[in-house]
Amino acid sequence: MTRGTIAVGFAGNPEEPSAVRGGPVFEILFGMETWLRQKGLRHQVELVFFSPAAEPGNRLGPEAVRGLLAEMKRRGIDTRLGEKLVRFSETGVTTAQGEIPADLIVFTPGLRGADWIAGTDLERSPGGFIRAERTCQVPDRPHLFVVGDTGAFPGPDWMPKQGHSADLQADVAAANIKDFLEGRRGTRTFRVELVCVVDSLNSGTLVYRTPSRNFLLKSSLMHNAKAFFERRYLARYR
Ligand SMILES: Cc1cc2nc3c(=O)[nH]c(=O)nc-3n(C[C@H](O)[C@H](O)[C@H](O)COP(=O)(O)OP(=O)(O)OC[C@H]3O[C@@H](n4cnc5c(N)ncnc54)[C@H](O)[C@@H]3O)c2cc1C
Repeated sequence: MTRGTIAVGFAGNPEEPSAVRGGPVFEILFGMETWLRQKGLRHQVELVFFSPAAEPGNRLGPEAVRGLLAEMKRRGIDTRLGEKLVRFSETGVTTAQGEIPADLIVFTPGLRGADWIAGTDLERSPGGFIRAERTCQVPDRPHLFVVGDTGAFPGPDWMPKQGHSADLQADVAAANIKDFLEGRRGTRTFRVELVCVVDSLNSGTLVYRTPSRNFLLKSSLMHNAKAFFERRYLARYR
């Protein structure tokens, strides 16, 4: 594709607002914009970002939403926000407000719990995830723990479903399981912390959020920092 329009968007799960994955979509959008510029094709390819949310990415914090939308404006990316999605077709995206003509659509839907969970007697959240305590323990099931995307945990409404959270939860769950196996009730709870680098291929923005802090740090070093982090992270498993 050397010319045309690419529409990039994401949506949440209306039944569970925290079940949304916007970070990678911002990365695709900014990464593609950078790449098209590097290839000298940007003037031939229009980019449109769409979301049924009026403030997409609001779980990253209000400053992040403002920063991400300002970055789209700076890069000449059109936005169609707050428009309920109706359908995708060969000619583009149809919303309740009209058409977004597009030659290519990149879309990430809201998340929901795996189908098999519905076939169990586990307590589920509205989005179909397994309810668990901040100790990662499933209520009234002393032998059952849950970590990562598939858990619905108590906490602020911006609680992220991200790899970093899964790591923090897994540490706590492992320690609490050890306690359980030794006849004690594990009481450790995981830290609520959102850390993400929105990579844009040659730069990036670090977003950090805890119940008491929220900041953004944009730097050309962030692209390499994320690549370095990835190499180090995967090396442990390899
Ligand atoms: C494109 C993209 C970019 C992302 N970037 C980041 C990032 O930069 N930083 C970050 O922190 N997070 C990021 N995330 C989120 C992160 O990947 C997830 O939050 C994390 O992987 C969740 O880990 P998990 O172990 O809970 O689930 P998963 O990693 O999804 O692992 C679940 C595993 O279970 C397997 N499985 C499912 N059903 C069954 C079954 N019935 N039987 C057997 N196996 C099964 C699946 O195949 C999968 O391997 C990104 C996600 C995406 C999609």
